[in-house]
Amino acid sequence: MITAVYRVPLRIRFRGIDVRDGLLVRGPAGWGEFSPFWDYDVAESRRWWGAAEEAAVEGWPPAVRGTVPVNVTVPAVGPEQARTIVADSGCRTAKVKVAEPGQTPAEDLARVEAVRDALGPDGAIRVDANGAWDVDTAAQRLRELGRVGLEYAEQPCPTLADLARLRRRTDVRIAVDEGVRRSADPLRVDLREAADVVVLKVQPLGGVRAALRVAEAHGLPCVVSSALESSVGIAAGVALAAALPELPFACGLATVALFTDDVTSTPLLPVDGELPVRRVEPDRLDAVAADPETAARWAARLAAVRAP
Ligand SMILES: [Mg+2]
Repeated sequence: MITAVYRVPLRIRFRGIDVRDGLLVRGPAGWGEFSPFWDYDVAESRRWWGAAEEAAVEGWPPAVRGTVPVNVTVPAVGPEQARTIVADSGCRTAKVKVAEPGQTPAEDLARVEAVRDALGPDGAIRVDANGAWDVDTAAQRLRELGRVGLEYAEQPCPTLADLARLRRRTDVRIAVDEGVRRSADPLRVDLREAADVVVLKVQPLGGVRAALRVAEAHGLPCVVSSALESSVGIAAGVALAAALPELPFACGLATVALFTDDVTSTPLLPVDGELPVRRVEPDRLDAVAADPETAARWAARLAAVRAP
């Protein structure tokens, strides 16, 4: 088995990290990515390895579309920077991080208003709170932010019970992310009262086929998002988005833009708000190779998830 470990600094701090690292594996079908964040334990990381194996060994199911519309991702930056990120992206949909620890509601509102300004009235805005709000806070924040016009709010509260309570109190559509992908059984978790949209992520759900089964099980509109992967991992997300029978929303797969470098000289970056459906050949592995200590940590992690 051929493997390589990459390590790439991010342009802007995101999800509490400044540097992204991960392991790539090559098999008969091509390259796959195994990159659970460091706060994921061995048990939870097994599904991530399943996704890498699928990409390397089996390949992906057939695509029903040739390109995938994507959103620009706006981290918890100030309004000026948010405006620039959106304007430079060419995307018509923006996902805006809100409820960042240490920031105020006024900062969130200023960021979302700046994004609306940059997108114009026809653009779509979604916010992601990563489960940071209780129900009362979420209802209040979505009332304020909703005036700017929201397509949906992603995981505003931590639990499905909270989301169900909030959903009865807000006009904004609710998308569930962590509530599916971090659950013990993403197929059987009951979303009927809690969500209008399901966020699918290939690695946390165990692969493209596993994610398609989750989509089918819930029968709700789906959005495919990345787990902040290199272009090799993003290609799996694009394959999922391309294979879904319906794709009513832009996907969160333009996150290579947050990286300062990539494993390939032809990164999966959007053109006119869309990504092409294709595999990725990592031809810059030497340029982004991790230091020996990081590589050793990944080798140990891989051994742990593959142990019976
Ligand atoms: Mg999310």
